[in-house]
This record gives sequence, C-alpha cells and structure tokens, in this order.
Amino acid sequence: MNILVTGGSGFIGSNFIRYWLGNHADDQIVNLDLLTYAGRKENLGDIASDPRYTFIQGDICDAAVVEKAMSGCDVVAHFAAESHVDRSITGPAAFVQTNIVGTYTLLEAARKQGVQRFHHISTDEVFGSLELEGTDKFSETTPYDPSSPYSATKAGSDHLVRAYFHTFGLPVTISNCTNNYGHYQFPEKLIPLMISKALKGEPLPVYGDGKNVRDWIHVLDHAKAIELILTKGRIGETYCVSGEAEKSNLEVVRTILQQLGKDESLIAFVEDRKGHDRRYAIDQSKIVAELGYRPSYTFEAGIADTITWYKENQDWVTKVSA
Ligand code: NAD
Repeated sequence: MNILVTGGSGFIGSNFIRYWLGNHADDQIVNLDLLTYAGRKENLGDIASDPRYTFIQGDICDAAVVEKAMSGCDVVAHFAAESHVDRSITGPAAFVQTNIVGTYTLLEAARKQGVQRFHHISTDEVFGSLELEGTDKFSETTPYDPSSPYSATKAGSDHLVRAYFHTFGLPVTISNCTNNYGHYQFPEKLIPLMISKALKGEPLPVYGDGKNVRDWIHVLDHAKAIELILTKGRIGETYCVSGEAEKSNLEVVRTILQQLGKDESLIAFVEDRKGHDRRYAIDQSKIVAELGYRPSYTFEAGIADTITWYKENQDWVTKVSA
C-alpha cells in the first residue's frame, strides 16, 4: 500500500509513520509537511534514509503540490493541521487556512485521483465541553459544539470530509481522538511543557483552578487505532478514540512532579484560558466492539515512558523551542 501522510513531521504524524513502517514492511509512505514551527524533519531522522519513505516539503493548501504528492497513493492519512488552542486564540487565520482550506484542497485531489481511502484525523474538541462533575461522554452521535477557533476549524474540516462522502462518494473515514501525549510532542502542549519546566526547576503554569479534565491517550495507542480504522474500518464511518484515562490538569502535573521527585510548590496557577472547556471524555464502545481496539498503555506506564524520553532528549526540546 502507498500512503500519503500529511503533517507527518509533527507529533502524532511522525509517531504514526514510525509505527506504520515498523508494522507494514511492504508499504511506502510519502510525507507531505510544510515544516511549520511544529513540524521537524529530525522527528523522523531515524527513518529519513529508509527507501520506503519519501519526504516532500509543501503546503496542503497548494493544489499543485498536493496533486503531485498524492499521485500513485492508495490511501491518504490526513494529520496536517494547526493544532494549538492558545495559538488559535491569538491568530485564528492560519487555522482557517490550513484546517479548512487545506482539507478541502486534499479532498479535491483525492476525488480527482480516486484514492481508495481518505482518513481524516480529528479531535474530541469538536464536541465542546462536558460538565466537570458529570459522567456523560462524547460519542459518534454527539452534536458538534466547538468552542475555540481550533476546534471550530477542525469541526469545519470534519463536515467537509463527510460532505465529500455523501456528495461525491469519496471513501472516507474519520477519527475523533482525545488528548495525546508521548515522544516528540512540541513543548508548548501541557505534558511536555510541564516535564520541561519541572526538569529545569521552573514554575509550572496551570490554567485557572487546574480542575479541567482531559481524557489522555498515548500517541502509539492512537497510531494503533488509526491502523485498525485503515485496515478494518467501514467507509463513511466515524470512530471515537480514547486512552481511557480521565485526569484533571492538576493530577497530570502532580504525577509529573512526583515522578521527577520535584516539589508541588513549583505549581503556579495562572489566569485561565479564554473559553476553556471544562471536561472532555470519550465513549469508545464503537471502535472497541467493531474493530477490537483497546489502549495498551495505562496512563501511569505511558507518562513514565514519556518522562523518560523527555529526560533523555532535552537537546531536542532546546532545539525545537529555539
Ligand atoms: P502538530 O502541531 O504536532 O503537527 C502538525 C503538523 O502539520 C506539523 O508537522 C506541521 O508542520 C504540519 N502542517 C501544519 N500546517 C501545514 C500545511 N499547511 N501544510 C502541510 N503541513 C502542515 O499536531 P499533532 O498534535 O501531531 O496533531 C496532528 C493531528 O491530530 C491534527 O489534525 C490534530 O487536530 C489531531 N489531533 C491532535 C490531538 C493531540 O492531542 N495532539 C488529539 C486529537 C487529534
């Protein structure tokens, strides 16, 4: 199988490419990535010379580049996006451009070239926010209610992908996944930011009261879920994916401090993010029942693995943060 991965030099895309090539010896991957601040060639330095891997630097909004990159590909796995909520508040334009116009450009090329599958990687943030104290969860049938320019543009891209299925019969699938963590995550996101600050003995900035809850998944479990959808998922379907680990931000930060042997006095509460969603949680019964998905990492094992990686790769953190 020939796969076009978009955004393969970012956090989840690079982990997915490494995972896929490790498990599918005969497949070829083309990675189309603009290399924004979040995309780094060195995230895939270990496979750069693998004959099954081709890198193209380019913009998913550029139709000519996209058509060339997609040529000869059977499957598209679309990860490329502007992905940081805080940046979407200070500068939404790039989010509208990449997340909506970029997805449209890819869908048009996929339609022209007749790809066998277009898989769109999306987020649970499109569903909005749940009550902090409640037990409700998002599922494939939850109405969309995005709160930030990031989640609104991801919601827009999900709708476009579905429209291309219903209108043009493009063979699509969508996954809406919870918060990821793991190796190579850009250190602006909660877990790598807190690990890096704790390692330096700097204050750990926690938004608001720190009670906001997220449902955490190790990035390799996300890669496994996408593999199951690509190999066994039903065309036109959406699958919600979770790591089955609901934690408040404060719990996450305390776990990191504990594992690094640092004092909780490093926690510094800061002004809350505008429109900060209180709780996300996913009901993933569909992917469990239909595709046999189950996360293999507990949060405790996954966070220990991630802390070890960041401890050993502080030079990467320094380089990407420069
Ligand atoms: P990331 O920011 O680490 O990586 C995004 C990648 O896309 C980067 O390599 C960047 O260079 C590339 N890119 C950005 N704009 C581009 C453009 N115009 N053309 C080509 N490439 C471009 O993001 P991530 O955390 O790896 O997220 C990947 C996908 O997964 C996104 O679609 C995101 O919405 C989704 N997602 C992320 C999470 C999470 O917790 N990180 C959870 C659920 C879903």
